[in-house]
Amino acid sequence: MSHPAFAEANAPYDEARFVLYGIPFDGTSSFRAGSRWAPDAMRKVSYNFEAYVHDFGVDLERVPIHDMGNCETSVGVGDTLAETCALTKGIVNAGKVPIMMGGEHSLTYACVEAFRGKVGVVVLDAHLDLRKEYRGAKHNHACVSRHIIEELTDRYVALGVRSGTQEEWAFVRDHPELKFYTADDICRRGIDAVLKEVDAYFSGCDRIYLSLDMDAVDPAYAPGLGTPEPFGITPRDVRAVVGGLAPKAAGFDIVEIAPEYDCGEITAVLGAKLIRYFIAAKWKSMNKG
Ligand code: MN
Ligand code: MN
Repeated sequence: MSHPAFAEANAPYDEARFVLYGIPFDGTSSFRAGSRWAPDAMRKVSYNFEAYVHDFGVDLERVPIHDMGNCETSVGVGDTLAETCALTKGIVNAGKVPIMMGGEHSLTYACVEAFRGKVGVVVLDAHLDLRKEYRGAKHNHACVSRHIIEELTDRYVALGVRSGTQEEWAFVRDHPELKFYTADDICRRGIDAVLKEVDAYFSGCDRIYLSLDMDAVDPAYAPGLGTPEPFGITPRDVRAVVGGLAPKAAGFDIVEIAPEYDCGEITAVLGAKLIRYFIAAKWKSMNKG
């Protein structure tokens, strides 16, 4: 492993209930690449925090967490997705919760695929990511949600969206069975009201996959991004989503942090904190009754 493990990720793989792994791949990122450096950036700053997460009364020292380190990636996105899917499948089939640290958003397709598609999907993202293909590549990071919707799930929620082409917004209009909440919707209505609706939407669904494209957050709070988009949601809103959905979430990822553009590690700190928050929320729900 190139970098010390994520803080408190001290359990051996066999005993772990949570498995962290980095996929340092940013091969299709078009504007500012560099999300390949994010897993180690988050590991480094993870030592900043107390092990005790007060909101859930959970001491992460006592939670069986394992960090597999960074996985070797291929040059091509296709091979990288296949490797990511196989790795994630192994974790899922062993009854553990996978937490993928990207890398770029295209990787999320492989993580959802590992559940054989039998999950609802929640994506936090500034971008719709609904293109069929981009720059000649199907699995460009700008297309990930489209392929997840068309191939892997029929229950899909996007939160914090505010950027897309005219065709992508037409797709949103044409699919009322999917839920898209813009950053303005969340700002206007409040995250609790939105989460209530999301909860009802997933009532017939026993597990979901949660993906955080960090650019959902306003770049004022998260400057280290490949594709920053102003007028985003707040870290507090994201935390509410992570805490609220963790009980139902069978897997989680954080993608698209670009440490080279970060200011004083603000974005990596936020990412590392949200991973810890997710684990604490999920662990509490696993140990209820
Ligand atoms: Mn995205
Ligand atoms: Mn995005």
